[in-house]
Amino acid sequence: MSTATKTVNETAGILTNMNQMGHEQVVFCQDESTGLKAIISIHNTVLGPALGGTRMWHYNSEAEALEDVLRLSRGMTFKSAIAGLNLGGGKAVIIGDSRKQKNEALLRRFGKFVESLNGKYITAEDVGMSTRDMEYIHMETSHVTGLPEYMGGSGDPSPVTAYGVYMGMKATVKNQTGSDNLKGKRVAVQGTGHVGQYIIDHLIKEGAKVWVTDIFEDRIKECTSKYSVEVVEPEAIYDLDVDIYAPCALGGTLNDDTIPRLKAPIVVGCANNQLKNELTHGRQLIDRNIVYAPDFLVNSGGIINVYGELSGYDTKTAMKKAEFIYDVTLEVLNGASLQGITSQEAAMQFAQKRIQSIAKINQTR
Ligand code: NAD
Repeated sequence: MSTATKTVNETAGILTNMNQMGHEQVVFCQDESTGLKAIISIHNTVLGPALGGTRMWHYNSEAEALEDVLRLSRGMTFKSAIAGLNLGGGKAVIIGDSRKQKNEALLRRFGKFVESLNGKYITAEDVGMSTRDMEYIHMETSHVTGLPEYMGGSGDPSPVTAYGVYMGMKATVKNQTGSDNLKGKRVAVQGTGHVGQYIIDHLIKEGAKVWVTDIFEDRIKECTSKYSVEVVEPEAIYDLDVDIYAPCALGGTLNDDTIPRLKAPIVVGCANNQLKNELTHGRQLIDRNIVYAPDFLVNSGGIINVYGELSGYDTKTAMKKAEFIYDVTLEVLNGASLQGITSQEAAMQFAQKRIQSIAKINQTR
């Protein structure tokens, strides 16, 4: 499995990028009648079918959407591997504004494309999608997880994802201070969406002081109606004098512009692909003495939750399974310091080791 290159090379072709990032298959989907424009990316299926959510987002260009889906699907391979699941990595993006362009026909057309892959790709919920949307997709394919509970599904994965991030946060604080108590810790949460709000709930219950931001006023209002938090403008979140920065919106928020501004010595959040560039920005964080809990490890509660759906779901088991994130985060952070590598590299090593060992077993079948 090729894992050498972590970022998309904008000047290279799609197949070259797939080769460099280790992708198996990328499917482009368009439908004139519904206006659907989507990309399904299957990164690796050594451990099992490629499972990963579908994101609907108003990308500025097709290239931006392709970059997102290639990076996200690759991240899913390592996420499932580190979580000990028998799943490969995949992801899909639908290009468009989920608040304006999403409708039953578009989602069902997308479902038909998922069905055409015969189970090699299994979809789930992601940014811009809801469990109701999963129902529409399910009308056209059985290869869907994250269905509502009344349909035998696991429902919204966000509570389990948030619990896993909270476990990862406690472990990272323990790694840094010797205690995992979050009482009195100052936390800046970027994005008060599904997962962000559940994380805030854990933080407030443990006595942390929380700052929040979001680009949508309704999300902020929903959050402030439930929790006592301080609200800041989206750009101000990076400059806050806090103990923990929790990126819970979109990826790429750890970059050349933001890292020098961070005052928080710890970064733990649910967003996927937080490091704009895994290598350079991982190192920049170390240079600034900022400890980063790898996103694909701490947010793996979501995939643990939907995985349960494939073999009969119950919430308690999913929550219990997500607790492994505490121990693995400690192991990864310790391993990174011992080897003098970034936490992202240490987590990747952990995941790759498992994929490589199972690939060997598969060859002997
Ligand atoms: P969501 O859409 O419910 O929440 C994201 C929130 O971030 C929204 O409220 C949005 O308005 C806000 N946002 C977007 N850009 C922003 C910006 N620049 N500044 C401030 N706020 C901004 O999505 P979610 O399900 O809570 O997921 C959040 C992140 O966690 C995503 O990156 C997702 O891929 C990742 N994730 C989610 C799950 C899950 O179980 N839902 C699992 C693993 C990873």
